[in-house]
Amino acid sequence: MLTDVAHRDMAARGPRAGAGQSLIGGAWRRRFASVALALVALCCLVLTTAAQAATVNNLRLWSAPDHVRLVFDLSGPARANVFTLDNPRRVVIDLDSTKLDVDIDKLDLDASAIDKVRTGVRESGGLRVVLDVNRAVVPKSFTLPPNEQYSDRLVVDLDYPGASAVADPIDPIEAMIRDQEIAAQRAQKEAVAEGKPEQADAVAATVEAQPHPKRDIIIAVDPGHGGEDPGATGPHGTREKDVVLGIARKLKQRFDQTPGFKAFMTRDGDYYVGLRQRTLLARQQKADFFVSIHADAVRSRQPSGSSVYALSQGGATSETARWLAASENQSDLIGGVDGNLSLDDKDEVLRGVLLDLTMTATMNDSLATGGQVLDKLGRINKLHKSKVEQAGFVVLKSPDIPSLLVETGFISNPKEEAELRSPRHQAELAQAIYAGIVAHFRQHPPPASLLAWQRDQGRGSASNEYRVRAGDTLSQVAAGHGISMRALKQANGLDSDILRVGQVLTIP
Ligand SMILES: [Zn+2]
Repeated sequence: MLTDVAHRDMAARGPRAGAGQSLIGGAWRRRFASVALALVALCCLVLTTAAQAATVNNLRLWSAPDHVRLVFDLSGPARANVFTLDNPRRVVIDLDSTKLDVDIDKLDLDASAIDKVRTGVRESGGLRVVLDVNRAVVPKSFTLPPNEQYSDRLVVDLDYPGASAVADPIDPIEAMIRDQEIAAQRAQKEAVAEGKPEQADAVAATVEAQPHPKRDIIIAVDPGHGGEDPGATGPHGTREKDVVLGIARKLKQRFDQTPGFKAFMTRDGDYYVGLRQRTLLARQQKADFFVSIHADAVRSRQPSGSSVYALSQGGATSETARWLAASENQSDLIGGVDGNLSLDDKDEVLRGVLLDLTMTATMNDSLATGGQVLDKLGRINKLHKSKVEQAGFVVLKSPDIPSLLVETGFISNPKEEAELRSPRHQAELAQAIYAGIVAHFRQHPPPASLLAWQRDQGRGSASNEYRVRAGDTLSQVAAGHGISMRALKQANGLDSDILRVGQVLTIP
């Protein structure tokens, strides 16, 4: 479709050289423009004889919190030039020897930085696409050759500088508390590894002398696939990326409703996030736990049921080697942004020992939590595998964050495909995964967490009793014991939510 591409856009010449361009005077600019135009014309002349004309058959758009991706499906290879212009802000995409055969008005621009898409034919015969944008963007583009699913493609990513990749990032105060906890754990671990137990005890004593932070346990909820990666597809066309997003959103909601927990999503929309990027996001958000949600598919329609995966020993060993070998990690930190373990100032042997210890502890935690999740899933769904499976999936490879991958069911099984679409079944699956993870953290709360504080307050009384302390709320006590408020009130004959300090509650 032809629209109002301004002529001055047509004379534009490649990526802007930042503020430098404004220093060029009017006469210079005109001369520069005409020379550039001549060059462009020359290039195109060469190209049109060399390359065949391509057609844009389809345009796809994926909107993420920190970028928008535009994919041009092309009938053949095409060369592109992408650059930005100011006043008003826009991105220009020039495609040599290319025609447009798609209704761009059908593109859903909602939630993206793009307000409007205009197209025109360049004087040299190529296609010009102009994106009017409402914020600063940094364009990146690359071309992809055809594969089984798609033809030639041009991918244009517009990154939003300074924007968070997580829609609902962790509160800075929680992050600060978490930093302090990580620093203390790191100091303790290093003291133990260096054979100085009295130093480790001193760190522990300092931490205990401080007021209890009662921080939230942070859960990274990771819906698999997204954007141009649909994941598996069911016999009736159900896409894995859609059902796992539904389950993940319900899972996040369950955690956010629970005092002492806070969840965030590595992907909260239909866009692609790289596998390493997912674990990086978990690290940046200082996650205590990472859970990836998927749906299985096989050629046969018969198999059904849920499975749970943790990292395999082989995967862990190779990942430890990767972390130790990769130069990008030499000065990197493991565990949260500031890390449980700072490796850059340690000799190689000690680095290996520390990383191994962390990886082993992480794997043990993952397996234990996996067992709890499997147990809860088994109550609502058939289990495909009756124990936690182990594999070398990339998303499970954080050395310091216990991680699980849940295959919720077989999308290739028509009956399970229908169930996976059902919001009720999605909620049941989310509830089972939630309950398994909460059960694990209730038994093993991180030291600075609200759950640890609640457990310590309850110490010294009979195991099924809890003595109310100042600041307790009914919902906190219920969550701390993994029961509903209703059950707690019923067991104690309470008809209001008000608690007295010193009151002893029976835990049903
Ligand atoms: Zn998957």
